[in-house]
Amino acid sequence: MRVLISGVGVGGPVLAYWLREHGAEVTLVERASTPRTGGQAVDIRGAALTVADRMGVLEQARAVRTTMRGMSMVDGDGNETMRSTEETVSGGRFDSPDIEILRDDLTAIVTAATDAEYLYGDSIAAIDQDEHGVDVTFESGARGRYDYVVGADGLHSNVRDLVFGPEHQFLHHLGTYVSIYTAPNFLGLDHWQVWHHEGEAGFGLFSDRDTDVMRVNLGFEAGPIDYDPRDTEGNKRLVEEHCSSLRWETPRLIEAMWKADDFYFDAMAQVKMDSWSRGRVTLVGDAGYCASPLSGQGTSLAMVGAYVLAEELGRKLAGAFERYEERMRPFVARNQALALENPGQGASPETVRQAAESIVI
Ligand SMILES: Cc1cc2nc3c(=O)[nH]c(=O)nc-3n(C[C@H](O)[C@H](O)[C@H](O)COP(=O)(O)OP(=O)(O)OC[C@H]3O[C@@H](n4cnc5c(N)ncnc54)[C@H](O)[C@@H]3O)c2cc1C
Repeated sequence: MRVLISGVGVGGPVLAYWLREHGAEVTLVERASTPRTGGQAVDIRGAALTVADRMGVLEQARAVRTTMRGMSMVDGDGNETMRSTEETVSGGRFDSPDIEILRDDLTAIVTAATDAEYLYGDSIAAIDQDEHGVDVTFESGARGRYDYVVGADGLHSNVRDLVFGPEHQFLHHLGTYVSIYTAPNFLGLDHWQVWHHEGEAGFGLFSDRDTDVMRVNLGFEAGPIDYDPRDTEGNKRLVEEHCSSLRWETPRLIEAMWKADDFYFDAMAQVKMDSWSRGRVTLVGDAGYCASPLSGQGTSLAMVGAYVLAEELGRKLAGAFERYEERMRPFVARNQALALENPGQGASPETVRQAAESIVI
């Protein structure tokens, strides 16, 4: 079985790992020229902890978890209004088995665990499938024929665009936009988070493992905006426009944003599709069922989806994609619902735990 996966994020390498375990020959193609860095912390919870354990990477992931000590909420002048050493907004309660980990650390771990062919700096330009296989043309001009093609290429999936059509049919905006980047740690944060929200804008500041830097999450609420996720300069302008009303250290955060070379910006959105599969092509993770960072479950959905898909393909029986969808749909629906629960504060830890464990693998 020859499988081509588009996207080396979280779902792509996890899928490749499990397909290799089931004896497949796997190629991954990633548009970025090197493994992508940036992003904040993501969470491995519930069934995704089982996937990491079965891959033999659980302890490795635990070893580089963010180990936050707590968080403060501050008012517009930076005065602390609330403090907790029991939980953080991003990672939940410290007394849970969940692992909060920087996205790039997790991508590095699952990629290193996976012995497959990695093609960086390329992308799929055309997909042409028949009853027996899929012909793929890459932007580089290379061609290949595969038994299956999987889009694990995130919220703005290229495979979804090519096979199912433009994204506006599937993306449901949640009315929030967020930028994420690295800045000098001028607040001296040490395994600590600082959160602030005023009017329609806010920020979250996180110390990094490297205490010289902090990861900044600067965002705002707005109706639908016409933006190009790849237009870094234009998106920095948007963030400045919408966030400069914030006070305290915001001017320094905005100055650091203009200097940041790892700037990431996107809308909080969910992907909803009637089917994730067409013929020999299917989708995994954010590409097919993004739950948005507001759910805290995007990474776990991608890991579990990848595991289930590989298991079903590994059975080498007809109907693998149908069984993948059947097993995943209730789990996806429950976890997508978390993003809409209790707006502004998030779902309760117990609700998140139940959703994260609501699939048998
Ligand atoms: C840079 C970045 C930062 C993020 N930061 C956060 C965060 O702070 N908090 C959070 O909760 N979630 C964040 N996310 C989303 C989070 O990683 C996902 O929700 C989750 O891990 C599911 O992973 P995935 O593998 O489905 O998609 P992703 O992790 O988004 O990976 C998709 C991969 O596909 C690649 N790709 C895109 N287009 C193409 C193409 N045409 N051809 C080939 N490859 C392509 C992308 O470069 C990326 O490497 C971030 C995503 C990215 C890309």
